[in-house]
Parts: sequence; C-alpha cells; structure tokens
Amino acid sequence: MTTDQDNIKPMATRLLDNEPVGQTVQVVRVIGDGAFRQRLLEMGFVRGAKVTVLKNAPLLDPVEYMIMGAHISLRHSEAAQVEVTDGDADFCDVEDVYNGIVETEVAAVDPMADNVMRVVLIGNPNCGKTSLFNQVTGAKEKVGNYGGVTVDSKEGWFSMGERKIQLVDLPGTYSLTEYSPEEMYVRTYIRDNHPDAILNIVDAGNLERNLYLTTQLMDMNIPMVIALNMWDEMEKSGDQLDIEMLSRLLGARMIPLTAYNGRGVKDVLQATLDVIEESEHGTKHHNVNYGTLIEDCLKELSALCPTLDRYTVLKIIENDQHAIELLHGQENAEQVKALATGMRERIERDYNNDIVSIITDLKYGFVRGALTETLTPNPERVVGETKPGYSLDRLMTNRWLALPILLILMWLMFEATFTLGAYPQEWIENGIGWFGEWIGKAMPDGILRDLIVDGVIGGVGGVLVFLPQILILFFFISLLEDSGYMARAAFIVDRIMHRVGLHGKSFIPYLIGFGCGVPAIMATRTLENRRDRIVTILTVPFMSCSARLPAYLLLVAAFFTAKQGLILMSIYLIGILVAAITAIILSKTILKHDKTQFVMELPPYRKPTARNAVIHMWSKGKQYLQKMATIILAASIIVWALGYFPRHEGQTAQEQIENSFMGQMGKAIEPVVAPLGFNWQMGVSVLTGAAAKEIVVSTMGVLYTGEADATEESTSLKEKLQTATKPNGEHVFDPVVAYSFMLFILLYFPCIAALAAIRREAGTKWMIFEIFYTTGVAWLVSFVFYQVARML
Ligand code: GDP
Ligand code: MG
Repeated sequence: MTTDQDNIKPMATRLLDNEPVGQTVQVVRVIGDGAFRQRLLEMGFVRGAKVTVLKNAPLLDPVEYMIMGAHISLRHSEAAQVEVTDGDADFCDVEDVYNGIVETEVAAVDPMADNVMRVVLIGNPNCGKTSLFNQVTGAKEKVGNYGGVTVDSKEGWFSMGERKIQLVDLPGTYSLTEYSPEEMYVRTYIRDNHPDAILNIVDAGNLERNLYLTTQLMDMNIPMVIALNMWDEMEKSGDQLDIEMLSRLLGARMIPLTAYNGRGVKDVLQATLDVIEESEHGTKHHNVNYGTLIEDCLKELSALCPTLDRYTVLKIIENDQHAIELLHGQENAEQVKALATGMRERIERDYNNDIVSIITDLKYGFVRGALTETLTPNPERVVGETKPGYSLDRLMTNRWLALPILLILMWLMFEATFTLGAYPQEWIENGIGWFGEWIGKAMPDGILRDLIVDGVIGGVGGVLVFLPQILILFFFISLLEDSGYMARAAFIVDRIMHRVGLHGKSFIPYLIGFGCGVPAIMATRTLENRRDRIVTILTVPFMSCSARLPAYLLLVAAFFTAKQGLILMSIYLIGILVAAITAIILSKTILKHDKTQFVMELPPYRKPTARNAVIHMWSKGKQYLQKMATIILAASIIVWALGYFPRHEGQTAQEQIENSFMGQMGKAIEPVVAPLGFNWQMGVSVLTGAAAKEIVVSTMGVLYTGEADATEESTSLKEKLQTATKPNGEHVFDPVVAYSFMLFILLYFPCIAALAAIRREAGTKWMIFEIFYTTGVAWLVSFVFYQVARML
C-alpha cells in the first residue's frame, strides 16, 4: 500500500464540528497529536471512514455521530479536531488490504506452572463480558480491587471436566495503548499475570471496531478464542458471516455466543480449554501481517529483545513511552532505541504519514479486508441505518423532553430508594432496638452491657440501616447501565457538568448524594476516568444528604418564622455551589485534565436482565458490608466511648456527656468555634456528628434537655434552644447563629461511613485530604457568614 500523491485531486476539507445534522462525510485526518488523537483514531476516525452527524444533545453540546456502526458522542471542541470532506469524494488512498497473517512458533507452556489455569475476558465496553462472566461463574464471583487503581476486575471459577479454571473479568477497553486507566490496567494485567488464554469478546454486530482490539491482542502471543457475542442480534439483522473463513483469516477460533441467555457458552469454554491444551505442546501463533517493510523491522528488533512480545516491539517502533520504559535495564536499550527511531523514520517516509496513523490504518485495513471476504450485509438494509431502538432514543434525547424525562426517571429512582428503602430500614432499626433491649435486660448493669448495647449493637445498626438503600439503589443503577440509558443521561447533562470540568456521568452520583453519600461514592464506579472519579468523590459530600435534614428542620423551625422553605433551599444550593467551586479548583490544579476522557460511546438500547441487576446489587451490598462495616463499627465504638468515659456516680445524662472526654473536647475546641458563633454544646454536637450527622440533633437533645431521644419535632428541645442564654444573659441562638451552624453541618467532615467509602474508592491519601478540606471550608464559610452578618 503506497500513497500516490499525484493522483489525488485537490479536495476541500472542513471541520467535522461545522457539519449539519443529517450530513454524512468522510474523515480526512485527525489534527493534533497525543492521547486524544490516538483515541479518536482507534475509535474509527481513520482516513476514509464515513461519519454521519446524528443529533445535538438537548443543550446543543455534545453531538452524536455514527461511525463504523457505532454511536459516539463528541464535544464540539473535539469534533473540531477532525478534518472531513464530502461523503462521496473519491480521495481514499488507503486500501482495505488483507495481507494475511504471519506465524510465530510459540514454545510449549505448562498452564499449571503457577498452580492456576487462568482465562481473561477482554473486549470493548458493553460487548457482554460481564454477562458471560456471570453466566459462567454464577454468583460465586469475588470483587477485586487492585493496587491503588480503582478499576474493577472480577475473578470467578468454573470447572471443565477435571480442570478448575479461573475466569477474570477485566474492564472494557477499545485498545491497549495505555492512555486510559482501563487500558493500562488490562495491559499490565496481561503482562504481569501471563494468562493461559485470552477470551476476546466481540460484538458481532460491530465487528469492524471490535476486531481492532483483537489485532492488538493477536500480537500478545497468548492463545486466544474469539467469542462472537450478541449472536441473537446478528441473526435477526440478516447479515451473513462466514465464521469458518474469518477464523482462518484471523488465525483464531471463533464461536458464536449469546451471553445473556447462555447460548453457546459451553462451546466457548470448550474451545478455550482446547487452545490451552494445545499450547501445552507448543503451537503456532498468528499475527497481523503489516507488509514486508514493517515485518522486516519487527523481525530485526524482536531478535534484539527476546523477552518482549511482538505488541511491545511494535509499540517501541511507534515511539510509545510505556513500551520504551520496558527496555529499561536491558543492556542494548540505547541500540534498540536508536534502531527503532531509524525504522520509524523510514516507515513514515515510505507511507508518507505519521506512524500512529500508519499502524492504525493498517490494522483497520486488515480488519476491513478480512470482513470484505466474509461478511455479507443484509441486502435489504439501508446503508447508514441506525441501530434498533433509535426512535426510542429520539424521544429520550429530544431537545425539549430529554431533561424532564431524565429528572422524572431520577426522581423515581430516588423515591423508590429512599421511600421503599425506609421500610426495611425501619425493620432493621426496630430489630436492632429490640435486640439491644433484650440483651440489656439479660445482662447485669455495667460498662460491658453499655458497651454492647450502645456501642456495638448501636454501631452495627448504624451499618445495617444503610444496606436496604444501597441494594435498591444499585439495582436501579444496574438497570440504567445495562439498558444503555446511563450513557444518554451523561450525553444530556454533559454540557452542564463540563462547566465544572467533569464528565456528564458524574451527574448520577451527585444526585444520589442528596440521599446518602455512601452509595453515591460507590456509584462513581460508573465513571471511566480516574481523575473525574476522584473529583466527583471529593465533592459528593457537599450534596446535603438526608441525615443532615433533621438538624436543619430543628433549627429552621426554632429560629426562622418566615420563608422557612427558602432558607432550607438556600442551604442545599450553597452545598451545590461549594461542590462546583471545589470541582473547578481541583480540575485546574491537582487533578488537571487529560483530554482522552470525553469521547463516549452511546451503546444501543438493550433489554436489561434481572439476573445481571441482582448480581450487581449483591456484589455492591457485599462490598459495603465487608469493607466498610469494620471501619464504621470501630468508629462508632470510639465515639461511644468518648462520650461514656470517664464515669462518675450519680450524674444525669446531661452532666455525664458534659464531663466526658467528648464534652471536654467540645470545651477545648470552644475557642476555635467561638468565631463562628458556637458555644461548647454545639462543639460537642459537631464532634459526635462525625460518626453520623443524625447524631447532631440527639446530642443537642442530651445537652439541652437531658433526653437522648430528642427529635427535630420535640417542642421541648426547640424551646430550650430558643431560651438558652449565655452566662452574660444574651441568647445563645439567634437566626445568624442558627444559619452559621447549619452551614457548618452542611459542609464539615463527611460522616465516618462516607469517609470509609472515600478511602475504599480513592485511597487513604484522598480521605485525609477530604477530612481537612471539608472541615476547613466549613469553618471558613461559617466564619465569613457569621462575622459579616454580625457587622450588618
Ligand atoms: P460489558 O460492559 O462488556 O461487561 O457488557 P455487559 O455484560 O454489561 O452487557 C452490556 C449489555 O449487553 C447488557 O444490556 C446486556 O444485557 C447486553 N447483552 C449481553 N450479551 C448479550 C447478547 O448476547 N445478546 C444481546 N442482545 N444482548 C446482550
Ligand atoms: Mg462489564
């Protein structure tokens, strides 16, 4: 394949950004360099590819395009990087050439060398990996969370005959180029764990794009089976695929599969076992043939780096920094680098293009070439036709209806979670209360009894009450993700979220945050980009969760006679404002953007399966109980002990807490909170509220009325607060103090459960940051408010 510049007619190019809806154009090139360009190329924006502008998001940005049968959303600023020309222009100097495959001898391996036989599932996002994983392993899966990177991977087991095989579900990825955390994770996983076989899942309805990843996997020299998933849709579409021939052309076994109902699963597993068994005797491995020039380079360089696979050697020629780092420590590293540079320059000269485009073009050429010979599209189908469910999509992303529909769906999810969840929550609370009482009666008075009843049982209760909400919420989230709606929600609100430097997908966790921060933080898993995920995690606690509401209600009712609703709403709005400012600051400073994150695929709508949703729900529930319960429990016991000790005979409950360590701490921090208008009682409430914000009210109850079970409705507490006076006779509370206190409760230290979630999702470092940041912001905001309001 060579470029003959002289034959190309001069051609008018434009930017994709300016194309009207409905237009179909051809890609000429992607401008710029770096990660973002590579991502676009890999998503199919290669020379000659046809792109159709489908629609604008309701807020006009981003825009949905169709390329290679997939729907992809790009922001205007991103589309401006793609140079296009007329859809019917005949300029394409790139041919779809299938050059064949080259064979590499692979030495015999013993799959049991490390005592486990391991198969990894790799494929694009939404191709059905998790569905297959769940089919094969049932609910036996274990959720893994590896070394600092919070990208999900799951491990499970299955048996075939006498073999017991480990199956690993890796995150979805379009490529292995190591630009996103997912790609990095998958690539590193393969390199470090040497799986015995790769099970490459592809969406049979979108082979062109899905097989691109396959071409990279082929170069890993690991036995591989390709599962043609979504075979049911393929059959319905009327397209014909010559599986046997395509298998031969790619040099890998291909098995049709319908993962969500289990059809074909047995064959896929059998084929996988077969390739592993063959590898025990040594086999030939098949790689993409890149043509003489590049093949010669690969051969020469591979000979100098016998420990590196073909994929890495090719990446070294491509000047990929991650691959070059792998040369580190190799004696001839400098020689290899110099040689690779020479090769790169020669190849670029020869193809008259840059190396990244050349390799991407060749890979796509290989795939398209192979498909031309094997895939016969249904002749009755119109070219450029959209995926099924597109008319539904028109409604869901309609200019005027999209936002109302989104809000209604979110409201339904929210209502279901927090209203339905309230019933089991109450049962759990009653059950725990009853159990505590029972134990209390059965045990003699004393510290041990108080520890068990108030510390342990109370602490366990504090953990368990969240469980129903978490389960229900994740059931719904799983449905939204599976059906494909989640991506649309992100598409709809992306423009708003973009303003604060985030992806549209952050919207969902924020919304959940108004109910409870713990599931909200867990829900950030749906964000693919780690940077976005951390910014979202750190700002979610500013969404005022339902646990803070009792304190607001008490204070508003006691100190504001008019406009109570507005006062309450202003608190919520201030929370959102602080979150937005924080997100902007973080994404401009310590968590700066990288540009790969905004391209998003909009998967076709699919019927979600209850099975997947239930499995997802359980795995989240288990995660919550296993990883967070211990921390929350320990913290509850500590808070209990601080309020319980030291003991003195004959004290009232009021005196007890006043004289306890907690009370002493409250008095000690009085000078710190005095500039905010707080007294030591409020200081103590804030300290105990660290365990859970509901406790703020009950602590106030104990301190002001001596009743532990005070609620926001109890008139006695309200009156006590209204009439409480300082030693000098002034009222402790007035509207300014009350508002300052509400601001503090809104913004300070997220509760211990939320911190446990932050630690799990983002790491200890960010948890510590969050403790200081939120408390600092709370102090500052209350301080400024109080001082300014006092001056007025
Ligand atoms: P993953 O992102 O690769 O893990 O993909 P999932 O397993 O989450 O599946 C994505 C969507 O495709 C879900 O809505 C599944 O129900 C659906 N799905 C999975 N396998 C099949 C299949 O064989 N046929 C059809 N029609 N849908 C499927
Ligand atoms: Mg998955």
